[in-house]
Amino acid sequence: MVLRIAIQKSGRLNEDSMKLLKECGIDIANGVNKLRTEASNFPIEVYFLRDDDIPQYVEDEVADIGFVGENVVYEKNKKVEVVEQLGFGKCRLSIAVSRNEVYNDVSYLHGKRIATTYPVIVRKFMEEQGVDAEIHEISGSVEIAPGIGLAHAICDLVSSGSTLFMNGLKEVETVLKSQAVLIKSSHLNEEKQRLLDKLLFRIKAVKRSKN
Ligand code: ATP
Ligand code: ZN
Repeated sequence: MVLRIAIQKSGRLNEDSMKLLKECGIDIANGVNKLRTEASNFPIEVYFLRDDDIPQYVEDEVADIGFVGENVVYEKNKKVEVVEQLGFGKCRLSIAVSRNEVYNDVSYLHGKRIATTYPVIVRKFMEEQGVDAEIHEISGSVEIAPGIGLAHAICDLVSSGSTLFMNGLKEVETVLKSQAVLIKSSHLNEEKQRLLDKLLFRIKAVKRSKN
């Protein structure tokens, strides 16, 4: 029996995900372009995937657990359980408007068009705020939307804010604070749950050592 874990193949979460497993004492041969690999000293198999696909793989029990951003977990809304915050991949999902706009509060967004790759989260936020805005889903290069007249505002991931600044935008609302989390399938058998408990024990020890 092995625990199958899905992590991001390449991108902002890949390196820290690999590093955390390593800090847990798990040795993973990281072959170039390999899409799956096994650890030599822990019954775990690693699948390298696009982050967007990780919740679905875990819901479908193709993977038992995964490391993925909370932003992706909430957007995809799959039947998976969030088990532990991992302390890396920190960012926020924020609304931004052109630097020249006068923005006082969310009512500014009433009747406006918001471009985002996170339509589910943004729609929920607007409903909670009682704002009737048009959500325009695009798949990337969100920051360019206001400048080319595609939208009045955007909702996108921000860490330092430098991308927004470079595109003449200012951050006006935080919709979600996010970091990488460990998710698990709701249907782990006892043996896999025991392996996960063992991994979690190590993850918590690694986290404690950093505080
Ligand atoms: P993939 O090819 O796997 O789909 P991607 O382009 O969707 O990759 P990345 O840009 O690598 O994703 O971001 C992965 C995750 O890293 C995000 O979903 C988020 O949780 C986190 N993250 C942390 N800081 C940032 C940031 N400044 N911008 C974007 N994502 C960030
Ligand atoms: Zn992605």
